[in-house]
Amino acid sequence: MSQALIAQLLACLGADQVLTDPAAQATYLNDWRGRYHGRALAVVLPQTTQQVAEVVRLCVSNNTPIVPQGGNTGLCGGATPDDTGRAVIVAMTRMNRIRDVDARNFSITAEAGATLDDLKAAADHVDRLYPLSLGAGHQSTLGGTLATNAGGLQVLRYGMTRDLCLGLEVVLPDGTVWSRLAGLRKDNTGFDLKQWFIGAEGTLGLITAATMKLYPRPAARALIWLDLPDAKSAVCAHERAQSVFAGAQTASELISAPTLTLVRQHLPEVQLPGTASWPEHWALMMEVSAHDQIFLEALLDGWRRACARDGQSPGLVATSVADQQALWAIRKGLAEAQKREGLSIKHDIGLPISGIPVFLKEASAALEQTFPGIRIVAFGHIGDGNLHYNLSYAEPVANDSLMARSHDANQIVYDVVTRLGGSIAAEHGIGQLKSGWLEAHAPAGSIDLMRKLKDALDPKGLMNPGKVLNARR
Ligand SMILES: Cc1cc2nc3c(=O)[nH]c(=O)nc-3n(C[C@H](O)[C@H](O)[C@H](O)COP(=O)(O)OP(=O)(O)OC[C@H]3O[C@@H](n4cnc5c(N)ncnc54)[C@H](O)[C@@H]3O)c2cc1C
Repeated sequence: MSQALIAQLLACLGADQVLTDPAAQATYLNDWRGRYHGRALAVVLPQTTQQVAEVVRLCVSNNTPIVPQGGNTGLCGGATPDDTGRAVIVAMTRMNRIRDVDARNFSITAEAGATLDDLKAAADHVDRLYPLSLGAGHQSTLGGTLATNAGGLQVLRYGMTRDLCLGLEVVLPDGTVWSRLAGLRKDNTGFDLKQWFIGAEGTLGLITAATMKLYPRPAARALIWLDLPDAKSAVCAHERAQSVFAGAQTASELISAPTLTLVRQHLPEVQLPGTASWPEHWALMMEVSAHDQIFLEALLDGWRRACARDGQSPGLVATSVADQQALWAIRKGLAEAQKREGLSIKHDIGLPISGIPVFLKEASAALEQTFPGIRIVAFGHIGDGNLHYNLSYAEPVANDSLMARSHDANQIVYDVVTRLGGSIAAEHGIGQLKSGWLEAHAPAGSIDLMRKLKDALDPKGLMNPGKVLNARR
């Protein structure tokens, strides 16, 4: 059966688009963090929507699981197959054409394998902004960011990927193509079907193209870097910034000192600009964007006045491009620095912004009781109430035993999150990392409804099995 499917795939796509040799498959079988490793019958690299549809039809008629993959930068193991070797990975990276940029409609239509950097460059070319920004933008794809509903650094102003999406083209699990790529901002023609596929992590269909919003490109930007004693002060500073900058504030990022230590250890090329010194406890980094320099200066004057009124320092205000790039390199390097340090237990949690200091206090106290001396690397998008909360020990043997007790550590963290009315998955998705936890933490009735939708669209359960929802027992 499996040899027959390989022969059909080869006939459909040709030898350079079907990888069966384990060495050629290797990069597709492991996740970015090196935490998940799988096997696959084949990795296919389609170049058109019709080829994707044909691949899906062939897999379904051979009862073969399908694992969609974009840039393979996801952090929850969603793009890694299981270890049975039965699945076909559909890697979308060769479907990366920009189909249309409509500057007047502030929209772009592109294929799913286009990277975020491709989208940004195409938007730049017509003096527009594609605002989704992640540390992995050179590799993360449009399809992967839609499938995980990625967030990133500018959600505060522009929203998550879901908010940027105007239309989708999707290959459904029966191989038919559903397409609604109209660049409309208002369209109330029945159910908003595209929402089913956004954040579904490839479990309901394979996204082949999308129409996304563009924005005017800001002409002037500044970054504020604050050195703060605790997370409560960061929440207050963020609140002050919101009241001064309102919609002009495009980012608000919190970084703890242990996180900065990892950056300094593993990314020595990353430096603070000028005479600034590394914060002892917390850094808060806030971006302000404006349509011209005069307006930006007025906003920054307002910030200095508000800080003086409250008896607080305005922090380092970086207005040169070089200084801003240096500060962004710190923020964008955090995931890489954590990866170079070794495995950690990662959490990506959503909380009310006001609940962040309480969470940090209560979670660290509870963890310290069970895991004395545990190292907490916390950072995140404070303006979105989204924390990345990573746990490890510096010493490898202790870290191995912590990894073996991931379940206990997760339980402690998620108990506090739930008590504070938060979410166990803010922007990275569920993948295989959290499918078990989702069952326990989803709002009442949600899993049941998700399963009904899944069964209706994918009755054989072949689209990315074991991701988001647990495989059926
Ligand atoms: C350094 C770094 C920084 C990051 N920073 C952020 C951040 O700030 N904010 C944030 O939200 N995330 C962040 N991420 C994780 C983020 O989720 C991914 O980078 C991105 O969303 C995944 O895109 P990808 O193309 O790599 O998808 P993949 O990893 O290939 O896939 C992710 C999921 O989407 C599915 N999928 C992929 N393509 C398709 C498709 N065409 N159709 C259907 N399903 C598909 C896969 O099956 C999988 O379930 C970061 C990751 C890294 C490595």
